Amino acid sequence: AKAAGKRQWCGYQPQLQAGLVERHELNESLDTAIAESAFALYYQPIVDLLTGDLVAFEALVRWPHERRGMVLPEEFISLAEESGQIVPLGAWVLERAATEATAWQRMSGELREAAGRRPLRVSVNVSARQFRDAGFVDTVRKTVETSGIAPESLILELTESVLMRRDERVRTDMQTLGDLGVRIAIDDFGTGYSSLSYLREFPISVLKIDKSFIDGLGLSQQQYALVEGITRIADTLGVQVIAEGIENVDQRHLLAAMGCPLGQGYLFARPLTADQAGALVQQDAER
Ligand code: C2E
Ligand code: CA
Ligand code: CA
Ligand code: CA
Repeated sequence: AKAAGKRQWCGYQPQLQAGLVERHELNESLDTAIAESAFALYYQPIVDLLTGDLVAFEALVRWPHERRGMVLPEEFISLAEESGQIVPLGAWVLERAATEATAWQRMSGELREAAGRRPLRVSVNVSARQFRDAGFVDTVRKTVETSGIAPESLILELTESVLMRRDERVRTDMQTLGDLGVRIAIDDFGTGYSSLSYLREFPISVLKIDKSFIDGLGLSQQQYALVEGITRIADTLGVQVIAEGIENVDQRHLLAAMGCPLGQGYLFARPLTADQAGALVQQDAER
């Protein structure tokens, strides 16, 4: 899909034309899809690296398209950001994820509690454009109310681009979200203009270390030291660390050994349909 995107924009005139028409078409059908809530949410498990216990799900949106098949977010999220369509789309994602997670919590709550485990959490991606929208905090508040989710089990994943603009709005909105009880995660940590000072300046509860660092874990002493250092600092500040994109057992063991408690990746599971996720919740609670 990345290659297709490049072809659209650096090719010859006919291809450029095709790209524009395609974008226009996608934009229009995106409007229809938003009006009809014709999206699907997938859920990737986030697990305890030592025990393999299910701790949370990250909600990942897809667009089932009649001609294109299951369209992945990289093909439409940036379009939706440019057009502002991400605001209603993001609100739908939030609402759906919170509602589904609440049902799974009710299903698994007693068994998890009996085993001394925390309620299942759900983590939702929020784009910078969506966060900047004046109605965002209100949307979160309403979602918490209507879904009935315990706010502390809802995690909002923001990228560093949001925190970079150290303006007053960002600060007060973060504060309000914190007061609501929802948790804030920094997503893709290490890929942007990373700064550990964000952890001090903003009410951050979770830091997600980008897959590119995990890829190099077993290969480079430097990468290893970097991930270990980030984990240790986060831990000192009371910030939970989640490693992304774990694909093999070596990575899992290295992370567990350095004290990184949580992770997600194809080693454990690909993003699941809601039905598959629900079955996993049940199975995990009963074992
Ligand atoms: P992300 O937030 O970094 O999400 C992780 C991406 O890595 C997901 O791709 C996931 O399927 C993939 N992944 C997980 N484990 C592995 C692994 O072990 N190996 C590899 N190679 N990949 C892995 P996906 O679902 O295609 O999402 C891509 C991006 O689209 C996300 O990156 C996120 O930035 C964005 N996105 C997805 N859903 C939403 C949404 O609801 N709202 C917004 N604003 N953005 C979203
Ligand atoms: Ca994410
Ligand atoms: Ca990420
Ligand atoms: Ca990413």
